[in-house]
Amino acid sequence: MHSSIRTATCSCRKVKLVCTGEPRRVYACSCIECQRCTGTAFSYRAIYPQAAVSSQTGETKSWRRIGPSGGWLEQHFCADCGSVVFMTAEALKDAISLSVGCLEDPGFPPPQMLHWPERRPQWLCLDGIPEAGRPSC
Ligand SMILES: [Zn+2]
Ligand SMILES: [Zn+2]
Repeated sequence: MHSSIRTATCSCRKVKLVCTGEPRRVYACSCIECQRCTGTAFSYRAIYPQAAVSSQTGETKSWRRIGPSGGWLEQHFCADCGSVVFMTAEALKDAISLSVGCLEDPGFPPPQMLHWPERRPQWLCLDGIPEAGRPSC
């Protein structure tokens, strides 16, 4: 079977993360933290097992916060340009949550669900994407 290799890149192109294989899960989220983190209406992220990340180049900084369920979440961003390339979380254990926008791949799988749908802007209609769940993210 064909095994996908995708590279996530920050705005200044210094941070690169190479991921192999398909993501475990793809989601969009309109929670207030995702809106603040991305600066826009919703996050679009893919969960990859840590083992699928074959290389990381460029310096990242991170910022950790405590989510509503009490577990920590950490945003990892380029030390130079500030793009949030991925997140880690206590609840994710051996996986990362990658910012799909950093992949520059219009063919990437769509979100399987929109989390925190009640927080989305009222104009936002994601046709065919089920609305479900209020995870801590
Ligand atoms: Zn950068
Ligand atoms: Zn969220």
